[in-house]
Amino acid sequence: MKLLLATNNAHKAREIREILNDSFSEIVTMRDAGVEFEVEEDGLTFRENALKKAVETLAFVQDRFDAVLADDSGLCVDALDGAPGVFSARFSGEAHNDAANNAKLIRLLSDVPDEERTARFCCCIALARVGREPIAVQGEVEGTILHEARGENGFGYDPFFYYAPFQKSFAELSAEEKNSVSHRKRALMLLREVLNVEDRDRI
Ligand code: IMP
Repeated sequence: MKLLLATNNAHKAREIREILNDSFSEIVTMRDAGVEFEVEEDGLTFRENALKKAVETLAFVQDRFDAVLADDSGLCVDALDGAPGVFSARFSGEAHNDAANNAKLIRLLSDVPDEERTARFCCCIALARVGREPIAVQGEVEGTILHEARGENGFGYDPFFYYAPFQKSFAELSAEEKNSVSHRKRALMLLREVLNVEDRDRI
């Protein structure tokens, strides 16, 4: 089965290939396949956005691919009723400005005490397949929001996301450490489990 990844992020593509290698004969990114197709992420949940991206992209490429995998992720902060959520990339109003997004987050939480600064990264992964119902799974990783940035690695909200089991912020972890516990890794492992169960049931 030939899978198209609805992403051009090389890091995500490598992680997906490592985990889902056994379930597909070929795994190709949009850029490598020469596919140019944009889907507006206007859903109210990660699940809605990931499913929309996977299903609409598959409709566009189904003469060349059997399946499309799409993801949507973000940070949900309890004291902000789940914000920034699906607006994580454009929280400050400007798309993908990590510094402005983090500044807004920390300003909104300035009066929130440590014990109420709980948060989680969420990742929904959707798989659309020709002639079958789409699958969507969600992975999460729990943490708390720091008052000040720590660490230089990662991206997005990583410098402010404290992960207690490692006693470090996500930006203080190596890529391997972060990938071992990340929301995306957990969602991908769940998807692999669902595909393995389907395979077992077919035999
Ligand atoms: P995407 O859906 O993976 O593009 O993520 C959307 C936005 O959520 C990113 O632009 C980041 O602001 C935030 N985000 C998602 N995953 C992470 C992460 O692992 N660390 C930090 N920020 C993240």
